Amino acid sequence: MFLEATRMKLSLNEIPEEGLTLSEKFSPGEMGLQMPGLKFLSPVEVTAAFLKEQDLVVVNVEARGEQELLCGRCLEAVKSPYEGRFDLSYEVKGKFALDVTDDIRQEILLSFPLKPLCKEGCRGLCPACGNNLNHSPCQCKR
Ligand SMILES: [Zn+2]
Ligand SMILES: [Zn+2]
Repeated sequence: MFLEATRMKLSLNEIPEEGLTLSEKFSPGEMGLQMPGLKFLSPVEVTAAFLKEQDLVVVNVEARGEQELLCGRCLEAVKSPYEGRFDLSYEVKGKFALDVTDDIRQEILLSFPLKPLCKEGCRGLCPACGNNLNHSPCQCKR
């Protein structure tokens, strides 16, 4: 069960000794999960397991969604499932609440390749006429 949310935050005293798991769904727009060449097509499902050890909170995050990337060579949009796993940790001495939304967004955005490809060996665009060489050869003389 994923609850719809705009931020993932909690009070530290809500985390019991055995830990706490939250499952929330984020609208990509509200979470700011966009950058040039990347967008999410569906809400991003985030499951985060919080474990408190004295002054440290460790968060085990799993995120899933459906993404659309622009191929770095031919500029075609490619859809693919996104799945990410990462850990975050926080020093919480003297704190009462924890908001992990921004760090989750950062981790998700950092996990994307700078130059994604639609497929291995994408032939890209012809530098002269702009034809997509995956679809057909072009008539330009090279
Ligand atoms: Zn391509
Ligand atoms: Zn050409």
